[in-house]
Amino acid sequence: MEHSLLHSIKILKKEIVMDDLLCDFDTKNRAVKNLGAFSSTYMSKEAEEVFIKFSSINAVDSCAYPEIEEMSQYCGNFLLNMFHAASPERYQFFPTSGSSEAIFLAILLFKNHWKVHHPDSTIKPNLIIHQTSHVAFVSAAKALDVELKIIQKDYENLRWNLSQLKENIDKGTIGVVCTLGATTTLVMDEVEKINAVLESISEHSDYLIPIHVDAASGGFIAPFVHPDFIWDFRLSHVKSINVSSHKYGLVYPSLGWLCVDEMICDDNLKNENTYLGKSIKRLPLHFSHSASHVATQFYYFKNLGWSGYADIVKDLYQKNKLMVDALKEVPELEMLTPNHLFSIPGVIMRSSNEKHYDLQALSQYLIKLDWHLPVFNNNVVDEGASQTWAARIVIRYGLTEDLIYQLLGDIKGYFSSQFS
Ligand SMILES: *Cc1c(COP(=O)(O)O)cnc(C)c1O
Repeated sequence: MEHSLLHSIKILKKEIVMDDLLCDFDTKNRAVKNLGAFSSTYMSKEAEEVFIKFSSINAVDSCAYPEIEEMSQYCGNFLLNMFHAASPERYQFFPTSGSSEAIFLAILLFKNHWKVHHPDSTIKPNLIIHQTSHVAFVSAAKALDVELKIIQKDYENLRWNLSQLKENIDKGTIGVVCTLGATTTLVMDEVEKINAVLESISEHSDYLIPIHVDAASGGFIAPFVHPDFIWDFRLSHVKSINVSSHKYGLVYPSLGWLCVDEMICDDNLKNENTYLGKSIKRLPLHFSHSASHVATQFYYFKNLGWSGYADIVKDLYQKNKLMVDALKEVPELEMLTPNHLFSIPGVIMRSSNEKHYDLQALSQYLIKLDWHLPVFNNNVVDEGASQTWAARIVIRYGLTEDLIYQLLGDIKGYFSSQFS
């Protein structure tokens, strides 16, 4: 029998396999027409060059490539500035594979910090999240043996039920999670109000319950368009923020960050190891990954700067307005966001009459035209709604005016072919 490695090399040489990979899977077209995804599908030509140039470098080998560590420091400080950390030296930041990993790390730090301050406690630690929180919190809590308390949304206005929050806080609460741009509603939580609830509780306790803000998408949006919206390190209880560079940071997958107040990075979790003559103290999660992502993020920060990002975000909201106005011309659909609350650029919509106009059938039809329109259960958005399904369109860098009109034409085409 042929050696399997040689065998597979032979297969790889067959042109047909290369054709399949390079031609049939049309990454550009399909990725750009993926309406529900948040992750970057478009980078400038120069950014792509940077990305490719650094792809053979392992970012964690800081002895061999100290430049990568410097780029990472620059990016982390840029983010701390975006999130209004008044004394950046009091904060730490960690590059991760994305927000899911950053969230895992944050819950690990929160749980450890709580334990350090409650050494004799026999209660199981709990984390307070919201109905619209990302599933990454459910996975992290399960893996780290933390109980979840889920606060229900006020359906009338998509806001937090603050009295329910108050009732759920107890001695085992390791932290509260807010979201800046929930995936099912796109809405940014009013973190300031949640902070006020925690401040009122702190008056009677000597333990400060920290807030973690999941700013996976909104972290690169709010600072540029809503400077007076206070959700970040300006608030007394916000001690930890995650953000995804591979969403509105404009970098291809996979890069995210965790920014945390040094106060919750207790020393007992850190490992000191000597590596090639250098002593490094770091948190336990630290995995090999390509330097492409950090290098590209560094390039964008240097190249675009604050004003470049602000221009791009403003342009996304203009595109969003175009999309919203276009969808208003489709009577078969109605929009749930944008609404009265701040939200990231995008649309959550439902059928205006589910018995007649089936969103899933629309989504199936669009697949044939290379569009991917994700449809999900709408109870998260609208309790007891007679309309059960909702669909999401995310406005990302790379979505052009032409594509918006093309999509609208395809949606209208579907409804008129079915119902006229
Ligand atoms: C995308 C997203 C995540 C997960 O982020 P990854 O970077 O894909 O791991 C978590 N929370 C929110 C709100 C998100 O939008």
